[in-house]
Amino acid sequence: MIPYGRQEVTEDDIEAVVKVLRSEFLTQGTLVPAFEEKLANYCDAAYAVAVNSATSALHIACLALGLGRGDYLWTSPITFVASANCALYCGANVDFVDIDPETFNICPKMLEDKLIKAERIGCLPKILIPVHFSGRPCDMKAIWSLSQKFGFRIIEDASHALGARYHSNPIGSCRYSDITVFSFHPVKIITTGEGGAALTNQIHLAKKMALLRSHGITRDSAEMIRSPDGPWYYEQTTLGFNYRLTDFQAAMGISQLDRLNNYLVRRHEISNAYDKLLAHLPLKIPSQDSEYSALHLYVIQLDLDNITQSRDEVFRSLRDRGINVNVHYIPIHMQPYFQAMGFRRGDFPVAERYYSKAISLPMFPALKDEDQLKVVSVLSSAIS
Ligand SMILES: *Cc1c(COP(=O)(O)O)cnc(C)c1O
Repeated sequence: MIPYGRQEVTEDDIEAVVKVLRSEFLTQGTLVPAFEEKLANYCDAAYAVAVNSATSALHIACLALGLGRGDYLWTSPITFVASANCALYCGANVDFVDIDPETFNICPKMLEDKLIKAERIGCLPKILIPVHFSGRPCDMKAIWSLSQKFGFRIIEDASHALGARYHSNPIGSCRYSDITVFSFHPVKIITTGEGGAALTNQIHLAKKMALLRSHGITRDSAEMIRSPDGPWYYEQTTLGFNYRLTDFQAAMGISQLDRLNNYLVRRHEISNAYDKLLAHLPLKIPSQDSEYSALHLYVIQLDLDNITQSRDEVFRSLRDRGINVNVHYIPIHMQPYFQAMGFRRGDFPVAERYYSKAISLPMFPALKDEDQLKVVSVLSSAIS
């Protein structure tokens, strides 16, 4: 079975993790801050707050920006449900902006139109979450200038995009956003098992997120409301969670970060090879982009008007022959939970059309050349 995505764990990673397991601190030691520093440096951001998942990072990012009851958060319908659920955790409302059919990212023109309408009826969003789908950077300059005009804050969901660059700045530098979130789930660009991080250049947001990650408790007397009772004293100043990453996960993250650039090079090789090998098949390959993508996913769109099979049939014949393809994503507004909130089929037609044709092909650094050729030959025989 060839998976669509798979982690690579090396002897160096294992050694780094084992070293922590033999040490005194499994959690709350020195390696989480070391991982945060390395990640922030790589991304050219001032602060990184490491947590146990990107879902947790999205939650505390929303809270740090003050999202609450009655507020609106907007995101893309073509993303993992976590990009929308973070609004619901905060008691806020969620809405979506349809995608651009070429980039599969949120469409800045449709965003602008929706903002103008929302302004008229007085329900502008407090937060927008652009998602760098497949690792391809969104049009952040356009989104940033709309945020200045309409007064919303920006959290980049960069779960797919560690290592990507926008206008030569690393994604995560928060040049055009308040906070950027990464995921370290095994299918993502680097992994810590489960894990995530929120990056920012604003110290008050970094402090707030660090507090929310650990029960809302501080041990820093400068942050306290009362004077300490004694050296044991800690203070809960807000309601937080236990969203901490462990030190052995951080050790793995540090070790994986050392290979990030090699991973990106390999993902680009695989993508270039697919571009060539698939050029003559009745399908659409991802469009070219002037920005540097992290290439988390390689998504093809079947040319359903010119083949006899349905997407479902092509998908099944790939799976039956050992190619574990996937579909990213079922548009969120079509999920039963969101339909119960009032969303309907037809609300975001570009996303729905994209969904009806999309298949994600295997894409991960350890994919062997011969396996990639097998994917292509199975795919060619599955469509005609
Ligand atoms: C994977 C993913 C998440 C959630 O990441 P976890 O670390 O699994 O919580 C959120 N958004 C997007 C776009 C993702 O791909």
